[in-house]
Amino acid sequence: MKLVFATNNLNKLKEVQSLIPNHIQLLSLKDIGCFEDVPETQLTIEGNAIQKAEYIIEHYGFDCFADDTGLEVAALDGEPGVFSARYAGDQRDANDNMDLLLKNLKDKSDRTAQFKTVIALHLNNKLETFTGICKGKITKTKHGDKGFGYDPIFKAEGYDKTFAEISLKEKNDIGHRGKAVRLLVSFLSSLR
Ligand code: IMP
Repeated sequence: MKLVFATNNLNKLKEVQSLIPNHIQLLSLKDIGCFEDVPETQLTIEGNAIQKAEYIIEHYGFDCFADDTGLEVAALDGEPGVFSARYAGDQRDANDNMDLLLKNLKDKSDRTAQFKTVIALHLNNKLETFTGICKGKITKTKHGDKGFGYDPIFKAEGYDKTFAEISLKEKNDIGHRGKAVRLLVSFLSSLR
């Protein structure tokens, strides 16, 4: 089965590819000739995932799935949430985003947060969504150089290392995207 994963993020493609069974051939946006920015203008993580999957079906006619992820921080009423990528501005810089988050949390004692991934799958004219959540907390400083985005300042519940200090396999085992992808994979496997 060929399925488009509507992303240009090579880190994510690598993460998801390692979890998808061999009988599913993943195609990237590049593989289908999609070089424009796929719109993600909704106000919720779920809304953005659905919008991206629908865009590919409408403009390219491929069955596809799209994901959207956000970091929801309790003491900031769920911010940065759907705005995680551009929290500190349109430059979408991970260090700027982390610095702003650490600054906004400076005087807060509650540092609990969660990553949330929603995957929207468009297959055979039907839409399904799969949600993965990873609870944890925001550290006071950055640690580690693996991963991407907010990984250096996020420790999953029960871990004393940040996501940027653990292996990709470990992150997939406990992380938000891994959880959502496993739900997607088990759904796809049930169709065989
Ligand atoms: P996206 O919807 O997956 O592109 O994620 C939006 C933003 O959330 C990214 O630009 C990152 O800042 C952040 N993000 C998403 N996934 C992760 C992750 O696994 N670790 C750290 N940050 C992430």
